[in-house]
Amino acid sequence: GKGAAMVTAVAYRLAAQHAERQHILDTLRLSRAQLLEVKERIRKEMVRGLSRQTHKQASVKMLPSYVRSTPDGTEHGDFLALDLGGSSFRVLLVRLRSGKRQIVDMHHKIYSIPQETMQGTGEELFSHIVHCIGDFLEYMGMRGASLPLGFTFSFPCHQSKLDQGILLKWTKGFKASGCEGQDVVTLLKDAVHRRREFDLKFVAVVNDTVGTMMTCGYEDPKCEVGLIVGTGTNICYMEEMQNIELVEGDTGRMCVNVEWGAFGDNGELDDFCTQFDHIVDDCSNNPGKQRYEKMISGMYLGEIVRNVLMDFTAKGLLFRGKMSERLKTRGIFETKFLSQIERDRLAMRQVRSILQHLGLTGSTCDDSVLVKEVCTVVARRAAQLCGAGLAAVVDKIRENRNLNRLSITVGVDGTLYKTHPHFSSIMQETLQDLAPQCQVTFHKSEDGSGKGAALITAVAYRVQSEGQQ
Ligand code: BGC
Ligand code: MG
Repeated sequence: GKGAAMVTAVAYRLAAQHAERQHILDTLRLSRAQLLEVKERIRKEMVRGLSRQTHKQASVKMLPSYVRSTPDGTEHGDFLALDLGGSSFRVLLVRLRSGKRQIVDMHHKIYSIPQETMQGTGEELFSHIVHCIGDFLEYMGMRGASLPLGFTFSFPCHQSKLDQGILLKWTKGFKASGCEGQDVVTLLKDAVHRRREFDLKFVAVVNDTVGTMMTCGYEDPKCEVGLIVGTGTNICYMEEMQNIELVEGDTGRMCVNVEWGAFGDNGELDDFCTQFDHIVDDCSNNPGKQRYEKMISGMYLGEIVRNVLMDFTAKGLLFRGKMSERLKTRGIFETKFLSQIERDRLAMRQVRSILQHLGLTGSTCDDSVLVKEVCTVVARRAAQLCGAGLAAVVDKIRENRNLNRLSITVGVDGTLYKTHPHFSSIMQETLQDLAPQCQVTFHKSEDGSGKGAALITAVAYRVQSEGQQ
């Protein structure tokens, strides 16, 4: 009768809606063949970045770090470190004692950098940093001390020596004016001189990946890769000097800051990008830049999810087609929600409370299930893309050394990697699948980027004084 026909119609409509949602989610799913393709393309860009002839055009810049020697345990002394460019800005004091092979003592303080300062003038930004150093020295009772300083500066820098770094471009949430193309050590020195309160000995500018690798390498000599999956994403590794055409010399190795976040900026990811990736890119601080980073890192995943949810809602496939003002607000779906939603046990309760926070009070149970599925798909793609890149890096190291099998350790840091319940396992699965000849151990680093800058400063100090003897 009539009732049965209506039931059939409803069932038919539900099935059609389900198919439509899955069809959209499928655009965010990558096949093994696609991931292999990503690996190959990254690998190619790495080679282009290293070569003098193609370096300029390459999306992946392969920046020399001037870090060659790893700590040998004889380093000692007190060192200051700054850590700028992650989720927080920190000043650290690191105390090393000879022979211990461990950091004896570390103090740090976290400072906030207001959005206006991140996006104001360079002078304001660097004055603020120096103000924080001053506060820290006071706090430690070390006013007027002149300590050697390592600066973890987590942005792409062109280096021609250890204590200089020309900022190529801002990434993530930063865009202070007048800094790109400038040496960040000079900018910091100028700010110190403007303040006229203390003096610092600048020894090293270090990318956070390099700091992380060094910190892990202090305990595990097999650690020759540093990976960050946090607000942004990037990797560094020990490359053969003979392959680094931008630096004179053919012997030994140097750590190279890959800057893989910019992979895709020449269109290498266009085949895999969805409409959501395009929107997130267009609305970012740096449209057209850091395309790989925007598919992987913490600053962007929540935005991808939010855009999928908006699309579903606009199509009547979610929240009964009712769009909330909050859902339309950029940045409202924080990436930490992804981690919370995917923590299985409490999943649905978490989803509910997060949806409420988003002003989506009338959501049904089906809505919660779907929101969770969107988070799962977006995070999975991120972890797989990251695994594909990592496969390219470790396979290159293996081939550099003419090995059939390579056993290596990767030092890792970053909030997304550390807090997301599935990111690391999916990444490792992909890696194993795409680089089966490499046996990779992961070593989570605690405060690696800041400590690493102090260690690198200490090594440079040791090498300097050995040279004088
Ligand atoms: C920067 C890298 C940095 C990474 C992780 C990226 O946006 O370009 O230099 O290592 O974020 O912090
Ligand atoms: Mg960091």
